[in-house]
Amino acid sequence: GFVCLSEASGKAEDAIKKANIALKQAKEILRGDCIEFTREMAIKTEGRVRLLNGLRKAFDFDRLFLVYQPQVSVASGDVIGVEALMRWRTDEGEMIPPDDFIPLAESSGLIVPLGEWALNTALLELERINNTHKTELRMGINVSALQFRHPDFLKVVQKAINNHRVQSKNIELEITESVAMLDANTAVETIQHLRQIGVHVAMDDFGTGYSSLSSLEKFRLSRLKIDKAFIDKINEKSSSSQLPEMIIKLARDLNLDVIAEGVEHDYQFSFLKQLGCDEIQGYLFAKPVLSEQLDQWLIAHKKDQQGS
Ligand code: C2E
Ligand code: CA
Ligand code: CA
Repeated sequence: GFVCLSEASGKAEDAIKKANIALKQAKEILRGDCIEFTREMAIKTEGRVRLLNGLRKAFDFDRLFLVYQPQVSVASGDVIGVEALMRWRTDEGEMIPPDDFIPLAESSGLIVPLGEWALNTALLELERINNTHKTELRMGINVSALQFRHPDFLKVVQKAINNHRVQSKNIELEITESVAMLDANTAVETIQHLRQIGVHVAMDDFGTGYSSLSSLEKFRLSRLKIDKAFIDKINEKSSSSQLPEMIIKLARDLNLDVIAEGVEHDYQFSFLKQLGCDEIQGYLFAKPVLSEQLDQWLIAHKKDQQGS
């Protein structure tokens, strides 16, 4: 990473800082080569720092919350669970999308306490909905790779279970293929431990990463989640992607269930049903909603089911 001194007005310190920003970029995207510092880089870095500070504050001041999106059985139409998704509303009322703040939380390590908070909040909600509605719904919770690899991860999960009146079989942690990228053996062991205490593990965004099929076989997963990107390719007459079909076949062979996310249209639902997909999540049934709205949705859905 380098900066041209003619560009770097000010102190030597500033020039080194700028070269460092360029170096960081080079390490991320152009290893084995060099990158020159630009003004855009400074603006982007500044923006990230500001957003991260905002996120830290939001976390400290309880400005983060979870919303819940129902998951439905294809065969019966019954709701079988919900996925917890994190939300951040700034003091000014602006919603910052998780696709912006989660990567930031990951790169700064903040995701570890943030993830622990999400886990505990989601289990509290799981306890509440299953009590209120006399059901056995499942709670899907996203776990980032950094959190999953943390030495205290299993302890954190156990503690969260102990602190809530929930059954571990109703907990499903959603991991991504990136957990296997650094150390597949440790990932296999961690999943093994989770299964021993009854917790389910699903592979999220399946097909978008680079997991090797051999490590997939060693993981004791419960479910594969087909990413929305592949569901988007299902149109009214056919699908321009073979991936949904391939993933469902693979899951069958590995004895896993499959859920498709991001299902918005009836024709996508029918197509996936034909392929033998087990469960569906998407705007076709419900958007992610606050806890109070989830209650109403669950009651309305049950009535619909009984009526049909
Ligand atoms: P994801 O885990 O793949 O979650 C699915 C995303 O698809 C969610 O976006 C959900 O709102 C959206 N979605 C579901 N059905 C539909 C649909 O029919 N149409 C459309 N257009 N979108 C649909 P969201 O909530 O913005 O979350 C984005 C990502 O942020 C998540 O992707 C996940 O990777 C991450 N994330 C969210 N909450 C957490 C969390 O608590 N922890 C971690 N580590 N990551 C989280
Ligand atoms: Ca997910
Ligand atoms: Ca996804």
